[in-house]
Amino acid sequence: MARKKLMAANWKMYKTPAQTQDFLFKFEPLVAEHTRDEIAVFPPFVCLAAAVEAAKGSNIAVGGQNLHWEKEGAYTGEISVPMLLALGCTHVIIGHSERRQYFGETDDTVNLKLKAALEAGLTPIVCVGEVLEEREAGLTEDVLRRQCLRAFHAISAKKAAKLVVAYEPVWAIGTGKTATPQLAVEAHLLIRGEAAKAFGQELADNLRILYGGSVKPENVKGLMAEGEIDGALVGGASLDPNSFATIVKY
Ligand code: PEP
Repeated sequence: MARKKLMAANWKMYKTPAQTQDFLFKFEPLVAEHTRDEIAVFPPFVCLAAAVEAAKGSNIAVGGQNLHWEKEGAYTGEISVPMLLALGCTHVIIGHSERRQYFGETDDTVNLKLKAALEAGLTPIVCVGEVLEEREAGLTEDVLRRQCLRAFHAISAKKAAKLVVAYEPVWAIGTGKTATPQLAVEAHLLIRGEAAKAFGQELADNLRILYGGSVKPENVKGLMAEGEIDGALVGGASLDPNSFATIVKY
């Protein structure tokens, strides 16, 4: 059975609650009839309540951009899974390269976060991807293998059923440089192979692997034409309702 694509908007540290509502007010009618793909938006934490309220009854899911693996505790500035669930979130992004690069996130914390999200029934999008120096040094495969191996560690296939992975070459994020469909496919095949080793072939066959990195209305069609690419994680081009709707409906 064909995998249903997931078109996801990562808003990073952009938009207030009022701007979130305004976006969804404009975006919803543009995709109201769209059933081919799943759609999810990932606003900043302070906008999640406004997003859930505005998206109620629509085909748009809402998720957090991060989570802490503990349910509660003395972790100033952190947000837990029960908090995301209480707001009505169904999805969460884990291990985005900006979290890894600027906030000290490691393969091991990604694993802890993934376990917590899966345990609670959230749909996690685990981000993996190489930086430019790693690609130029011929280390892309090693990096992707290590990130997958450590992220998937000690998780059963049964628990991993909702797992989604996003391949995001770091050199393509926010830079305007997009991986060619061929290059993305090579990485996706490798990730799918690692998922097969960790969880078995059946889960790997059903696993959705998104591409992220400067996806835009102009390049989305070529990327999504590849059977290996099961959707997109979109940053900059998802901030405008018309632009993201064009991407979703490519
Ligand atoms: C992202 O933030 O995950 C991303 C892919 O950003 P952009 O689309 O802006 O490159």
